[in-house]
Amino acid sequence: MDDLQPQELASYTPADAPVPTSEVVVERGSTAQEMAPRLNRSAADVVRFLLQQGEMVTATQSLTDEMMELFAEEVGGTIRIVDPGAEQEQELQQILGLDDEIDPEDLAPRPPVVTVMGHVDHGKTKLLDRIRSANVVDGEAGGITQHIGAYQVDHNGQKLAFIDTPGHAAFTAMRARGAEATDIVVLVVAADDGVMPQTIEAIDHAKAAEVPIVVAINKIDRETADVNRVLAQLAERDLIPESYGGDIVTVEVSALEDLGIDDLLDQLLLVAEVEELTAVPEGRASGVVLESHLDKGRGPVSTILVQHGILAVGQPLVAGAAWGRIRAMLNDRGEQVKQAGPSTPVEVLGLSDVASSGAAFVVAQDEKTASKVADTREHWQRQASFAHTAAAASGGAKLEDIFKQIQAGEAATLNLIVKADVHGSLEALTESLRKLERDEVKLAFVSRGVGGITENDVQLAAATNATILGFNVRADRKGRSLADELGVEIRHYEIIYKLLEDVENAVLGLLEPEYEEVITGDAEVREIFKIPRIGSIAGCYVLNGVITRNSKVRFLREGTIIWRGTVSSLKRFKDDAREVAAGYECGIGLSDFQDLQAGDIIETFEEREIPRS
Ligand code: GDP
Repeated sequence: MDDLQPQELASYTPADAPVPTSEVVVERGSTAQEMAPRLNRSAADVVRFLLQQGEMVTATQSLTDEMMELFAEEVGGTIRIVDPGAEQEQELQQILGLDDEIDPEDLAPRPPVVTVMGHVDHGKTKLLDRIRSANVVDGEAGGITQHIGAYQVDHNGQKLAFIDTPGHAAFTAMRARGAEATDIVVLVVAADDGVMPQTIEAIDHAKAAEVPIVVAINKIDRETADVNRVLAQLAERDLIPESYGGDIVTVEVSALEDLGIDDLLDQLLLVAEVEELTAVPEGRASGVVLESHLDKGRGPVSTILVQHGILAVGQPLVAGAAWGRIRAMLNDRGEQVKQAGPSTPVEVLGLSDVASSGAAFVVAQDEKTASKVADTREHWQRQASFAHTAAAASGGAKLEDIFKQIQAGEAATLNLIVKADVHGSLEALTESLRKLERDEVKLAFVSRGVGGITENDVQLAAATNATILGFNVRADRKGRSLADELGVEIRHYEIIYKLLEDVENAVLGLLEPEYEEVITGDAEVREIFKIPRIGSIAGCYVLNGVITRNSKVRFLREGTIIWRGTVSSLKRFKDDAREVAAGYECGIGLSDFQDLQAGDIIETFEEREIPRS
């Protein structure tokens, strides 16, 4: 980049072909290469223009909405940005006959769907098993023949469905896909252990989903059980129990000794009644896929939740991009059933593919329609997976936003997810961070852990509006792109006081970041060559972006930083190269670091000034 002079940039003029005068539809996440031709411009025009604006992108990198709009404006065109397949999906909905509004007259009450969440070992599984074995419809003794992760029980003649979510992040991920499967969350808190990090995580996920919470205070049979402490801890978390004058229903139970389970079910039915849950009881079924897997003998198997209508064996089903005629349907005890109505989970066999969890399903008019819809979706899903949606601003308390909240006189909570390389530094960081708390600004540790920043951390941060702080660890590629997509702020630090300073500045409302670090590329080390008198050359494959000579680099092994420095030489085959782009191999020379191994990641970055607003 250093040999592009400002004069050259200033002399940039668009090419001669006219820019279309009518509105041009551009897909979200398009690259310069994809967008430019629609405006009769070249990818180079786009890259050069953005460089002028201080944005360094390559021709094959996804552009943000803002970048595309800026460029269109610059050349005098008008664009409309759409999600890949968004328009097609509307058409598909019409083809499936789903664009009709539901007539309130057609609605009838339906059973509630309940998800159980809580800290590990607080008794989630035990409670689910207890509820199930005590209430199976025909009282089949110990009859849990099969675990399908969702079941329906009968309590005093009323039905309830329970779904076992594999984790809090899965719950939110499903929600994010628009699948509102859960009506009530049961938060399990062990009475002897109290509110723990994952309890808080569960509370945050449930609150984010705006689903009512019923608290099951479990293990009350234990001598060390302290129900009052749990109630106080809940109140601290803004879940004010009824006994404190609030509206949170709490029920004392022992999953082990079978105490309070009936009471819990009674309370769930009461909450459900208040919620006035309804569904269309008859006609064409629709609902949501809870879980799918490929079974060796049976092919794709999906656990689905019917939300409206009656699903029957033999019907043609479309579930996201999968379709098929239902060959067989099994209930939660592995028994074949012919039909399933609202709030019933069933396993279906006969789909063409493993349907993704969270996908909506519907019965189609016929097999031809089902296959057409599924195939079209598959095509667009493939397109969309390339598109990377740029930072969707979420209205949470990020470091930058805190200042505004304080100015507005609101007490703010800064939700943090802290990841560090070793336990020692994690503990030290938490200690020091706690000391930064003020009356106006509280710090909440949504989660703390050792190791690289993963998709799960990002998912959780999105759900809880948390900022992720990484100390001597990095986000992996999946984590990073998900963070971009969800607008999650990840901050990487290598110096403890710098981290503390930033958080303190945020807390004091003084944060005016001047520089941000932008990752420009990363490459994977494939092979190490030792060359006498020159040192090591790492044979690399560039995974993302561009590796540029003299750029700052750090080396990562399993997400942990092992070295920092600069690229001293860069070669393509035998020749010196100024930069090497994603998809190519290159040799990277390292003057004073010899300890690289195959599989290490070389990441280059630059410090970019953030314009003050
Ligand atoms: P999960 O990780 O939340 O699913 O927890 P589990 O259901 O696996 O329970 C963790 C442990 O706590 C197991 O050893 C259970 O037997 C025990 N446990 C669960 N519920 C109770 C209870 O009500 N009382 C007592 N004393 N132990 C329980």
